[in-house]
Amino acid sequence: MSKDKNAPAAAPVSNFIRQIVEADLASGKHAGRNWAGQPGPAAAHAGAPLDPAAIRTRFPPEPNGYLHIGHAKSICLNFGLARDYGGACHLRFDDTNPEKEEQEYVDAIVDAVRWLGFDWGKNEYFASDYFDFMYQAAQHLIRHGHAYVDSQSAEEMRANRGTLTETGKDSPFRSRSAEENLDLFRRIEAGDFPDGAHVLRARIDMASPNITLRDPAIYRIRHATHHRAGDKWNVYPMYTFAHPIEDALERITHSICTLEFEDQRPFYDWLLERLAEGGLLARPLPQQIEFARLNLSYGVLSKRKLIQLVQEQHVDGWDDPRLPTLAGARRRGYTPEGFRRFAERIGVSKADSWIDYSVLDECMRDDLNARALRRIAVLDPLKLVIDNYPAGQSEDCFAPNHPQQPELGKRAVPFSKELWIEREDFSENPPKGYFRLFPGNSVRLRYGFVVKCTGCDKDASGNVVAVHCEYFPDSKSGTPGADAYKVKGNIHWVSAAHAYECEVRLYDRLFREPNPGAGGRDYLEDLNPDSKRIIAACLEPALKEAKPEDRFQFERHGYFVADRVDSKPGAPVFNRAVTLKDSWAKG
Ligand code: ATP
Ligand code: MG
Repeated sequence: MSKDKNAPAAAPVSNFIRQIVEADLASGKHAGRNWAGQPGPAAAHAGAPLDPAAIRTRFPPEPNGYLHIGHAKSICLNFGLARDYGGACHLRFDDTNPEKEEQEYVDAIVDAVRWLGFDWGKNEYFASDYFDFMYQAAQHLIRHGHAYVDSQSAEEMRANRGTLTETGKDSPFRSRSAEENLDLFRRIEAGDFPDGAHVLRARIDMASPNITLRDPAIYRIRHATHHRAGDKWNVYPMYTFAHPIEDALERITHSICTLEFEDQRPFYDWLLERLAEGGLLARPLPQQIEFARLNLSYGVLSKRKLIQLVQEQHVDGWDDPRLPTLAGARRRGYTPEGFRRFAERIGVSKADSWIDYSVLDECMRDDLNARALRRIAVLDPLKLVIDNYPAGQSEDCFAPNHPQQPELGKRAVPFSKELWIEREDFSENPPKGYFRLFPGNSVRLRYGFVVKCTGCDKDASGNVVAVHCEYFPDSKSGTPGADAYKVKGNIHWVSAAHAYECEVRLYDRLFREPNPGAGGRDYLEDLNPDSKRIIAACLEPALKEAKPEDRFQFERHGYFVADRVDSKPGAPVFNRAVTLKDSWAKG
C-alpha cells in the first residue's frame, strides 16, 4: 500500500499548464488577492486570509449525469495542480440549467471525486448560489449599455447571426434604451412572459469574426423548478455567462477547460472586464486555459450516450462495471491510484488525440500487480482425482501472498484427493509444445505435489468428466528433495472438498469497435455481445472471507474484485477488472 494516497504515482511531468502556473507564481500575478468586496464564497471565508501565493483551480461538473473517465483526467489535472503548487481546488456544481439536474447526480459526483482520492475541504459550491449576483451583474451590463433584451424569434436570431464567412445583422431591438431594457428584464424575471419570448443578450459586435462575440445570449426565460433554487427564478443565466462569474467569485486563478471553449475565451475576458471595471468583481481576474479532452477508444465519453445506455438498459445501471463511468470503473475493480497513474501517463496538451483503452488497462495492471494479494481460482472446473491419495485425508500446502513481497507471508491452501483444475489444463491429444496434463505426462500442482496423468473418464457423448493421476508423496513443494522432480508444466488447482463455489463475472469491453458509431453507424450496433459472461467458479477457501472491494490477482487469470454491491458477508461474488495480458493486442 502506498503511504500517502494523494501522492502522485511518480514525479509529475511538466506540461504547458504547469509552465503557466509556475510563471504566474514567479511573477506574483496573483499576489495581493483577498476575499474583500466579494459576494458568494467570500462570505464563507469571512476573516480567513486568502493565501496570495497559492493557486486556485476548480472542477466544475454539471450535475446532469455520472462522471466518466474523461472527467478523471480533468479532476486529476485540477486537483493535482492545487496539490503540487500549494493551492486549493474547488468542487463546483455548475447547475445553471434547471431542467436536467438532479440530486442523485450531485451525490454520485461527490462520491466519485472522493473515491479518486481528492479532498476539497470547505470549497464545495453551487453555481445556483450565485444567481442573485448574476442577476445584479446582468442589470449592471444593461445600465451601462452592454446588454439588451432581444425580442426576435429564435429563427430570426439564428438567421441574423451570420456565418463564418458572413457578418451578422443587428437586431431591430439592439437600440432599446437602458431604461426600457431594465424594465423589460424585471418583468421577464417577474414571470410576465412565456419561455422563448425574449432573451437578454450582451451587446458586443455583430460583425465580429468570432461568432461567439456576436451578441451572445446571457439570460433566457425558463419557467422551471430548479433542484436547489426551487421556483424563485423565471430566468436562468446561460452557461457561458455564468461560468466566468463563478470563477471570479471563487477567486479562481487558473480556469482550466477543454478545447471546445477556446472560442469562448474572448467573451470570458470581455465579461469579467466589464464587471471588474464596474467594481462588481475584484482583480486579478481568472485566466481561462484550454487543454485537449480525453478521447478513449472502445469507450464512449459522452453524457448523452451514457444516459441512453443506462435508460435503454443496454447495461445494468450507472455503475455497470462495463461502463466508462467512474462508478462503473470502481465496481469493476479499477483503482484510484491506477487512474492517477493514467492521468500522468497520458499527459496534458493542446493536441486532440485518442488514447487506446489498453493504456488504461495497463495502468490498472501496474497498480494492481504491486498491491493485489495472489489467490487461486479455477474458472472452468474439471475434476482431477489422485487415485493413490488416501480418501478423507487432507493437508496444507503453502502459497505466497505476493511473490515480490515475501513480507506479506504465505497462506495455507488445503490439498486432498479430489481437486478442481482448469479444463484447458488437460488434453487427451495434446498439440505440440503442450506441457500440461495428458496421459503419461507429469506436471507440478503449483505449491503442491508432482502428479503423473493416468487417463480420464468420459460421459456418453465423449466429454471428459474427470482426469486421473497419481502423486509422488516425496515431491511436495518446499520439502527436501522436491526439486529433484523436473517437470515442464505447472498448473493451479483447488481442493474440491474445500472450494468456495461462487459467481464470477468476466467483463470485457463494452464495444467491439475502437470508435463506436464511426462512419455514420448507430453506435449501439457496435456493442460487444460478449461484454459480460457469468460463470460458476471454484475458488480457494480463503476467498470466502473477502470483503467488498478487496482486490486480488487470481493466478494465471487476472485481477478481480469482490463486488461492492452484490457481495454478502461470507459470500462474496467477484468481478474481473482486467486480464493479466492485453487480449485485444493485435498480432
Ligand atoms: P456535457 O458538456 O455534455 O455536459 P461534459 O462531459 O462536458 O458533458 P461537464 O460536467 O461540463 O460535462 O464536465 C465537467 C468538466 O470535465 C469540464 O471542465 C469539462 O471540460 C471536463 N471534461 C469533460 N469531458 C472531458 C474529457 N473527455 N476529457 C477531459 N476533460 C473533460
Ligand atoms: Mg461540459
